Amino acid sequence: MEERLTVEQLTQMLREAAKRIIEKEPYLTKIDTVIGDGDHGIGMKRGFTALRNMLEQQEFSTVDQLLRASGMELVKTMGGASGVIFGTMFTGGLMMLPKSSSMTLPELAGYLAQGEQAIERRGGARAGQKTMLDALIPAVEALKKAAVSGMTLEQALHQAYLGAVEGMETSKNMRSRTGRSKNFQEATIGLPDPGAISTSFIFQGFYEGYLKTKKEDAQ
Ligand code: ADP
Ligand code: MG
Repeated sequence: MEERLTVEQLTQMLREAAKRIIEKEPYLTKIDTVIGDGDHGIGMKRGFTALRNMLEQQEFSTVDQLLRASGMELVKTMGGASGVIFGTMFTGGLMMLPKSSSMTLPELAGYLAQGEQAIERRGGARAGQKTMLDALIPAVEALKKAAVSGMTLEQALHQAYLGAVEGMETSKNMRSRTGRSKNFQEATIGLPDPGAISTSFIFQGFYEGYLKTKKEDAQ
């Protein structure tokens, strides 16, 4: 039987992603102070704190409702460019999801791939321009590959996490062309993009949150 990711597991994954972002705010702020305008960590922390609170207060019966509400909560509370960017990561691919209490790995991969495309359309950035896309694109590619090669959800989420981290590392050597940090072009070489760091924490949270739900099941 094909493995399915349930709304409860997804909730745990989002909780864990939120926890990572909230914990890492000082680090995100530190990097964005050097290469951006210093507000990235604060905005992310605000958005993901609101998301965490929402997940505590509300229950969702379908995966698409959960992810729609999550994306909207981020846009509503974060504001700015990154509110739209990170909100779109969650809302841009909703049409790929079943109105169901669970989804498959190919559906998850298709959903995030559409979210990524929507970010490119809205923000006009492309791969290689030192943005969060440089972590998101390899994470999505890893999920797509995992989906066609028949990996388990656990393996797939691990590969996505590794892809995001690798992409974030690669962003160190890039020169930013977009967003406010374009004013700091040379100074940005050697440091990762703040949004790419956040994206790698989100995928770390997804993987570790998923592992937690597996452990609970085994007990
Ligand atoms: P702001 O640019 O409004 O100050 P933040 O500082 O919170 O927003 O976020 C900056 C991050 O947003 C960057 O590190 C980058 O990853 C991401 N970002 C900015 N513009 C774009 C874009 N057009 N496409 C994708 N990501 C973007
Ligand atoms: Mg900023």
